[in-house]
Amino acid sequence: MGEVLVLNATYEPVSVVSVRRAVVLLLKEKAELIEAAEAMLRSENFSLPVPLVIRLVYFVKIPPRIILPVTRRGVLSRDHYTCQYCGAMPLRKDLTVDHVIPRSRGGKTTWENVVAACDRCNGRKGNRTPAEANLKLLSQPQRPRYLAIATLSSVETKQVWQKYILGD
Ligand SMILES: [Zn+2]
Repeated sequence: MGEVLVLNATYEPVSVVSVRRAVVLLLKEKAELIEAAEAMLRSENFSLPVPLVIRLVYFVKIPPRIILPVTRRGVLSRDHYTCQYCGAMPLRKDLTVDHVIPRSRGGKTTWENVVAACDRCNGRKGNRTPAEANLKLLSQPQRPRYLAIATLSSVETKQVWQKYILGD
């Protein structure tokens, strides 16, 4: 089963749900269909195009947090395949994922503590903090929001999602 992008009443992406969940929201009229696939879902009681994007009818004040696992692909994509220390854009295979606070010093593998780094900078930094290694981060690493969902998911429907996911 695919996934469905859920937009808030304001058209901001708030969540990703299963098709089944999306259908429930549609049938209960809690959401409206924005984008659909060509395929149809049929049951005794209804027939509905497979939803790709739905929009909540009522504004959801606190959007549910989406837990995105930290992956190499995700980190490199978030950092635009650019070394966050020197700005180099080497081949993807020459990019590493660097722990800003080294793991040996208690640094965790979280979106806020990992960045893309070229081989050279990573080697130069070693088991030191950026300050100790006299390296400066180009940007403060943050947990990506919706852009990463589009990047990380493999479903073809993501092309449709892109319209609503501008990245921030
Ligand atoms: Zn570098």
